[in-house]
Amino acid sequence: MSSLSERLNIVRGRIAEACSRSGRCVDEITLVVVTKTATLDEIKEAVGLGCLDLGENRVQHLKSVHEEVERYVLDKRTEEGEGVIGRPSWHMIGHLQRNKVKSAIKLVSMIHSVDTLRLGEEINSACSKLDLRPEVLIQVNCSQEPQKYGAPVGAAVHLAEQFCSMPNLRLTGMMTMAPLTKDKKVVHDCFSRAREIFEEIGSKSFCGSEFRHLSMGMSQDYEIAIEHGATMLRIGSAIFSKLPAE
Ligand SMILES: *Cc1c(COP(=O)(O)O)cnc(C)c1O
Repeated sequence: MSSLSERLNIVRGRIAEACSRSGRCVDEITLVVVTKTATLDEIKEAVGLGCLDLGENRVQHLKSVHEEVERYVLDKRTEEGEGVIGRPSWHMIGHLQRNKVKSAIKLVSMIHSVDTLRLGEEINSACSKLDLRPEVLIQVNCSQEPQKYGAPVGAAVHLAEQFCSMPNLRLTGMMTMAPLTKDKKVVHDCFSRAREIFEEIGSKSFCGSEFRHLSMGMSQDYEIAIEHGATMLRIGSAIFSKLPAE
């Protein structure tokens, strides 16, 4: 059985290799460590190993671990000095119900899964009351599977424009998920479509230079995502699952 730090090193190594194969710099990539299946102790260990971007897909779980992790980090910094451990920021990566928006925005620095006008409006109005201006990503359904969340490909540019007009949102990028398949061509096609839409949105005049994140790539497909220009990877099971990787 491997340890968390070994698995994390493997992932970091593979990210570095995939970057060098594509002529990219590892500094362009943010690893968002997805903690939805992790225990509290595992999350603390990951933070101690320098994982300072954490992703959750359920507000309930986020609430239950957020405060404890924060307390752990602050105690450690008080006892051993500020340099010993960084303070993590949290990313909401999963489907966000509108009735959970209020609690989510107090806890996260970025929401990756904004995919409808109504959700954008809900976040914008909740944030204006709290004087917050979180970074949000537009989630686009690039795999075009009907059951998936995300704005339809054909609606993405217009929706991005609408988000940009909302004063309490900062639209800083786009998120997508590839289909769950072993067929690499399908994954390549999906990420390449995502890259095109990302560049199209980024080229529009409504969209400022803040638009720079392309969040795609999970445990199964992050090396392919890097080839297609991903800047944020969302990786969970490759780091927390004790099952051997394929
Ligand atoms: C769970 C999840 C991930 C991470 O998936 P793994 O296969 O465990 O790496 C990434 N993004 C979203 C939206 C998720 O829900």
